[in-house]
Amino acid sequence: MNLVNLMDPQQQVSFTEAVKVGLGRNQGVFFPTELQKLADIETLLALPFAQRSGKILQHLIGDELPEDTINEMVKRAFNFPAPLVQVEENKYCLELFHGPTLAFKDFGGRFMSECISLFSQGERVTILTATSGDTGAAVAHAFYEKDNVDVVILYPKGKISLAQQKLFTTLGKNIHCFAVEGSFDDCQAIVKQAFLDDEVKSKLGLNSANSINISRLLAQVCYYFEAFSQVPEHKRENVHISVPSGNFGNVCAAMIAAAIGLPVKKLSATTNQNDTVPRYLASGKWDPNATLESLSNAMDVSKPNNWPRVESMLKGELFDKDYFYSCSVSESKTREGMQQINASGYVAEPHTAIAYEGLKLNNTMGETGIFLATAHPAKFKESVESVLQQQLEMPKVLADALAKPCLAETVNADYTQLKQRIFDKLG
Ligand SMILES: *Cc1c(COP(=O)(O)O)cnc(C)c1O
Repeated sequence: MNLVNLMDPQQQVSFTEAVKVGLGRNQGVFFPTELQKLADIETLLALPFAQRSGKILQHLIGDELPEDTINEMVKRAFNFPAPLVQVEENKYCLELFHGPTLAFKDFGGRFMSECISLFSQGERVTILTATSGDTGAAVAHAFYEKDNVDVVILYPKGKISLAQQKLFTTLGKNIHCFAVEGSFDDCQAIVKQAFLDDEVKSKLGLNSANSINISRLLAQVCYYFEAFSQVPEHKRENVHISVPSGNFGNVCAAMIAAAIGLPVKKLSATTNQNDTVPRYLASGKWDPNATLESLSNAMDVSKPNNWPRVESMLKGELFDKDYFYSCSVSESKTREGMQQINASGYVAEPHTAIAYEGLKLNNTMGETGIFLATAHPAKFKESVESVLQQQLEMPKVLADALAKPCLAETVNADYTQLKQRIFDKLG
C-alpha cells in the first residue's frame, strides 16, 4: 500500500511507515494513492466477519504483510460482534459497542495495537493521543500492559462523561493520563505540536493514536461490509448510512468501503451543534467556531482532523458528492431522537440519536437506512437516564471502572508545561 501526504504530495510512504509515523510533514494526513475495487462483493459478504475482514484488509494493505499475519491480527482484534438491529421498518442500527470499552473505537484501537506491536519489533514506543471521550479508553485497553509501550492520553477536563473517563484514567501502569483545562481541539493541537518537536519525537519514539493513524481507519472499513451482510439481500440496492461525525474518521472509513466496491448509495456525516463541516459545504468557507459542549461530547470537535481525507475523496470522485450529506443536529433534536427511538423499543445514547436524526433529514422513499450506534447507552448514563426517564443497567466493565479512583493529573492547555510533565513521567 502506497500513501501520500495530503499536505505535501512529495512525501509518499508505505503502510508500515504511515502507521509508525502517524502524521506526515506539515501536519499532513496520509491517504492511499489508489483504491482498487474488490472482485466479488457477494461472495465476500457471505463470509464470517473475521474471515471477510482479513480479506478486505489484505486487499487494502497489499503484500506488505503476509496473509496469515493479517488474518491472525484481525482474529485477535475483532473478537466481538457488530450486530445489525432492526429498529423501524426501513431503519437498522449497527451496534458497534460490543468491544471491551463499549464504543466503536475498539475496532480501530485494537487493530492499531496489533500493527504497532508488529512494526515496533521491541523498540520503545510512546502513543500520544487526544481523546474526545472514547478513543482514550479504546487505545488504553488495547495497549494496557504491553511491553515497551507507554500511552499518554490527553482529555478535556470535565467535558467527557464519568464512565468514559474512568475507563482509562483508572488503569495506571503504562497508561498515563492528563486532564487538560481546555477543549478537545486544544488537546488535539498539543498532540500535533508534539509531533513537530524533534526532542519529544526522538526521546519518546512518538506515535499518534488519533484517528490520524491510517491503521484505525482501515480497520473501520470492515464493519460497513459486516452491516451489509446482515441487510436482507433484496434491500441492499438503495442503502443510506448515517454516521455520527466529530473528527470525520468513521465516515471516511465508510467512503473507503464504498470506493473499494461496497454499494453504499448515500452517506450522511451528521454532526452535533459543532457544525464546521455543514457550514463549509453550504458556504465554501472553512470557519471553525469555538467548540460547544454537547450531549454527544465525543463529537465536540470544531476542527476535524480527517476532513482533508474526506474532501480529497469527494474531489477525486471516489464518492459521489451529490450523495454525500452533512447536516447538524441541535441538542433538542438529539433529545427528541432519543425519545423517538425509545418509542420503538430501543435505547440509544446521544451520538446514536444524532445518526438516527441524520437518516431522517436526508431520507428518500424506498431506501434502507442504517444508523450507527457508536457507543453503549450506559456510557452516557447521566444523559440517557435524564432524557428517557428510566434507569439503565451498568455493564460489569463500567461498574468496575467507576468504582476505582481516577489517576489523571490536571494540567493547563500549555504545551511547554505538559511536555515537561511527560518527560518527568517517562524519562
Ligand atoms: C469518536 C466518536 C464519534 C465520532 O467519530 P469520528 O470518527 O471522530 O467522526 C461518534 N460517536 C462516538 C460515541 C465516538 O466515540
